[in-house]
Amino acid sequence: MENKELGTLYIVATPIGNLDDITLRAIKILNMVDIIAAEDTRHSLKLLNHLEISKPLISYHRHNEEIKKDILIKKLKEGKDIALISDAGTPGICDPGEEIIKKCIEEDIRIIPIPGACAMINALISSGISTREFIFLGFLPLNKKSRKEKLKEIEEINKTIILYEAPHKLKNTLLDLKEILNDREIVLARELTKIHEEFVRENIDILIEKAEEFKGEIVLIIEGNKQVRENKLNELTLEEHYKFYESQGLNKKDIIKKIAKDRNVNKNEIYQNFI
Ligand code: SAM
Repeated sequence: MENKELGTLYIVATPIGNLDDITLRAIKILNMVDIIAAEDTRHSLKLLNHLEISKPLISYHRHNEEIKKDILIKKLKEGKDIALISDAGTPGICDPGEEIIKKCIEEDIRIIPIPGACAMINALISSGISTREFIFLGFLPLNKKSRKEKLKEIEEINKTIILYEAPHKLKNTLLDLKEILNDREIVLARELTKIHEEFVRENIDILIEKAEEFKGEIVLIIEGNKQVRENKLNELTLEEHYKFYESQGLNKKDIIKKIAKDRNVNKNEIYQNFI
């Protein structure tokens, strides 16, 4: 049970570019809390000034997480409410947050998420690539061995893949991806919610050619490996295969057609099993 005497940690999403992308609830919470823990206090001051919010700020970033986590927990235990914000978007998504959240759970401190902007979700929903199942991998590792392993993993994934990337590393990342993607669809989403917002739906060779032109903040959306997807379906029993398509809202006739196509057999043969 959470202790009512303790403060609450609000995880507050802030804009990823356009300052209007903040919810009424987020503004209310930022006005209400005792302290705001921000990744870069100078950066967040711009947003807070824009919202005319003046609150004590504590910096909380990757390099001071360990020390600042204890200070924040102490304040929460004294009954202070804290809002955690990052430089952009949703804290905890490739941003600090995970550690303090784990610690709050250990200490029975209440955590309340205040939803809002997140680059990966907005890139995904605008990409035109399947949103049914997806996997977010953040930034590719820079360490050679871990990077190779991650690329191997991406080669096999049959769900939509989302990556974050910095513009100066984009070309290398695209060259590495080219080795494993074959003809998979890829969308580059850039500068979301900002003046130069752009979705580039080109094949990977063209993206590589133009890589140096893509400035600003970047998300890559990559189609899952269809081959693996088809192989996996064929490993299912007929009933499981049927249920898979049923869960996608298809009717019996279409399901049977699809199963027959996946298994390369006549549809009557499949139909016999579902009379
Ligand atoms: N917490 C953030 C979120 O909710 O998306 C992500 C923070 S992470 C440190 C920064 C990366 O997110 C950038 O390198 C870029 O890949 C992606 N990103 C953030 N804002 C973006 C935007 N406006 N357009 C495209 N990508 C963005």
